[in-house]
Amino acid sequence: MWKQNTNNPLENAKLQMQQAFETHPDFVQYQDQFAKLFYPDRTIEISIPVRMDDGTLQIFTGYRSQHSDIRGPYKGGIRFHQDVNADEVKALSVWMTIKTAVVDIPLWGGKGWVIVDPRSLSRNELEQLSRWYVRWLYKYLGKDTDIPAPDVNTSGSIMAWMMDEYSLLNGEYTPGSFTGKPLSVGGSLGRKEATAQWGIYVLEQILSYSWEKIAGKKVIIQGTGNVGGIAAELFHKSGAKVVGLSDIDGCIADENGLNIPEIFKQKKLGKKITDTPGVKKIDASDFFSLESDIVVPAALENQITVENAGTIRAKIVLELANGPTTKEADEILFSKNILVIPDILANAWGVVVSYFEQIQNNTNHYWTAEKVDAHLQETMKKAAQWVYETAKSHDTFLRSGAYIVALQRIFEAMADRGK
Ligand code: GLU
Repeated sequence: MWKQNTNNPLENAKLQMQQAFETHPDFVQYQDQFAKLFYPDRTIEISIPVRMDDGTLQIFTGYRSQHSDIRGPYKGGIRFHQDVNADEVKALSVWMTIKTAVVDIPLWGGKGWVIVDPRSLSRNELEQLSRWYVRWLYKYLGKDTDIPAPDVNTSGSIMAWMMDEYSLLNGEYTPGSFTGKPLSVGGSLGRKEATAQWGIYVLEQILSYSWEKIAGKKVIIQGTGNVGGIAAELFHKSGAKVVGLSDIDGCIADENGLNIPEIFKQKKLGKKITDTPGVKKIDASDFFSLESDIVVPAALENQITVENAGTIRAKIVLELANGPTTKEADEILFSKNILVIPDILANAWGVVVSYFEQIQNNTNHYWTAEKVDAHLQETMKKAAQWVYETAKSHDTFLRSGAYIVALQRIFEAMADRGK
């Protein structure tokens, strides 16, 4: 089981961007825009009343941080999790602005959160919570205003309830108000695999610059949810060996490669990954130091820290989670010559497919899986190339390369709008 780190993610985001800002000499003219970047346009806190199944009333705290809508509506997931503070939501909304700018889509940053452990709620309680979230925030949301999506512990069904509530309040079917919905109510093909598939395409693209391939590589993955679980299956299919896997129930390892299809088959039946027969259970403190080629954090923020970065033996870290590496840990990885494929590039697909979903909803014309995949590959290739080449030309690491690409677009748009 991994622990929630107390590092302040907004500070972390600032430090990362400061570094990119200083790397690019032309950015001096954008001092004001840079300073403004760390202040979301607004962060709304709400108290959500839920009548529990046992008749009692419980109040949950929720947030929506709208970072910036300089060249498109606010966009970003809603997370249901017990550990959060407002700074974390703000940092995550800044990241969404950066992420959408790296891949160059006309949606900007937002993020939402409800402090709750959704596993402690019944289906009915979860639905009430989701609908109330929309009721309280209704006037701040909308297909041209702010479009939420799933994130940690939220799903397509939650988005469907939220879109339904929004449509009721709006007086018309408004599928473009939420993305990540089930296919039956305006979801896009290709969503389910979205984040993990994109991350693996990005990895393939970056590996191709040095004539390398995924097949045969040893991979360790932190997280077995929407992102980590699908990444494990996709790595397995590509011929990589998943030698370590961890989630809230614990960490498992097998140097010959875990039987991923079987583990996930059992997981769907309600088994814990640690119940898998024949696997070695290891301590969380030993997880990242397992012998591997690629480490994939696909869970929460601040998991690779000064305490464990030095023990990583892999050559590549593929950040599928948002902000999984602290600034200090990043420097340790850099000094060890470990290539970090940063979150803002590696996990951007969720929001890219959200953009495709929105286009389909707003035009009421739906794409084939082939069309989604073709657009995905085209967007991914351009983004990976921009980041790789920018990092190379500034003699810096990929994270700074990605920030430079994003900041350039953000600053220009802010300056042009007189912000
Ligand atoms: N939760 C995903 C992310 O953090 C998707 C956000 C979205 O589609 O708006 O990138």
